Amino acid sequence: MSVIFIAKAKLPTKYVDFDVHVFMHNEQEHLVLAKGQFNQEDVVLTRVHSECLTGDSLFSLRCDCGPQLEFAMQKMAKQDKALLIYLRQEGRGIGLAEKIKAYQLQDTGVDTYDANLKLGHPADNRNYQMLGAVFEHFAIKNINLMTNNPDKISAIEQAGININKRIPIKAGHNPHNQHYLQTKIDKFNHL
Ligand SMILES: [Zn+2]
Repeated sequence: MSVIFIAKAKLPTKYVDFDVHVFMHNEQEHLVLAKGQFNQEDVVLTRVHSECLTGDSLFSLRCDCGPQLEFAMQKMAKQDKALLIYLRQEGRGIGLAEKIKAYQLQDTGVDTYDANLKLGHPADNRNYQMLGAVFEHFAIKNINLMTNNPDKISAIEQAGININKRIPIKAGHNPHNQHYLQTKIDKFNHL
């Protein structure tokens, strides 16, 4: 499936002055926020973040997505070069409405893993196929990756990118998402 570059513009944010790049893949628009110019020798601080409208934009405490994004940007603020790949795969790839349905099930005591299965979705429906093309576009070969998710590590390594270092993300714990975070550790093998 091809990854097509569409446009680029400046995007100053609260933490970092980025250039925002928009790509099309699978009929979906994805964003890549880049700080600095890259050379092949660079080891680039990188975050691959999957869209979570409720967490990223609405300050939801049901998950840890918003604080993870903020943690990543704060780290990027201290670097000359950084890459934030923002993939539009809401609700672990099942979409916004299905995510809210899964929340409804979770309100009755089902965990996030089983809720997706009950709705007929894979526990995690995200895919990272476009990452190889994105890193190629920016001529990046080596990264320091901010993640707790082993699936992302293997997807990036399969794309031929060297992960020099994994940087754990410690952010976003609160009483409302304690069970959610424990499920990520127990059932999604998060680190
Ligand atoms: Zn979230």
